[in-house]
Amino acid sequence: MLRNGKLKIAVQKKGRLSDQSINLLQSIGLDFDASSRQLFSLCRNLPIEIIFLRDDDIPEYVQDGICQLGIVGLNEIEERNANVQKPIDLEFSKCRLSIAAPETVEWTSVKDLQGKKIATSYPFVTKQFLSQNKIDAEVIYISGSVEICPSLGVSDYICDLVSTGSTLRKNKLVETERILESSAFLIQTKKEITTEKQDLIDKLMTRIVAFLRAENSKYLRLNVSKKKMDSVIELLPGLNNPTILPLSDPNMVSVHAVISKNGSWELMESLKENGAEGILLSSIEKVLL
Ligand code: AMP
Repeated sequence: MLRNGKLKIAVQKKGRLSDQSINLLQSIGLDFDASSRQLFSLCRNLPIEIIFLRDDDIPEYVQDGICQLGIVGLNEIEERNANVQKPIDLEFSKCRLSIAAPETVEWTSVKDLQGKKIATSYPFVTKQFLSQNKIDAEVIYISGSVEICPSLGVSDYICDLVSTGSTLRKNKLVETERILESSAFLIQTKKEITTEKQDLIDKLMTRIVAFLRAENSKYLRLNVSKKKMDSVIELLPGLNNPTILPLSDPNMVSVHAVISKNGSWELMESLKENGAEGILLSSIEKVLL
């Protein structure tokens, strides 16, 4: 890593977060080479250096100001108890940290954990959860494959990340208690930084927000008769008021709006039921408000 005064952004070198982190940074205009994934990569077009690290090291690098920004899961930030700013939830790599019990165990409440053994790669968050619930249990640190611990007799329960839940099912475990909802966050150091660096960070954040807004939005165009226009417009929860444009047929208008990606099928169906025709939905690359 160079002491070159450039803004340093830490991303995961290899793993669940790395591809999406790199894609995000490249999508907001950072021109760097990620193919070799060496320790660092200099941006060609901005005074920025990308540092590739293990995800569990990222919170501390950012806390200590070695890197000024980082992209990492909330699970790692909480486990490291890192004192960093978390300005943007990037909404990818969603998962939860949960307690899971063997299928054969009847679960009534968190009190069932009293006096038991819990295997986890997240001992800090697990212990915090237990103490908040005034439960005395033994937390056993395991660095990986936590899900096999109950069947090996190592522990009674586990506390692990769950995404689809298929790992738990394969190991005959049932999720009993969610203790943390996690996703990737952009984090920023609380250490003092120069005005130039802060200006650059602000610019990057504006771009990230624009990118996320575009990712979560779609551009909708439809035609509708003037008579049915109001009932169609009422269905549109856009970013702004919809744009209404005249068509060659004086009884018809074209309505354009930015809508949320979620539920777009249902919205298109009800627009059609309410008289909309020729409904087109397309992707948006960037949204700067
Ligand atoms: P799943 O079978 O989809 O529920 O995924 C669970 C397995 O993937 C567990 O071994 C977890 O440790 C791991 N996992 C799930 N989501 C994440 C994540 N966002 N970051 C890191 N590991 C994860």
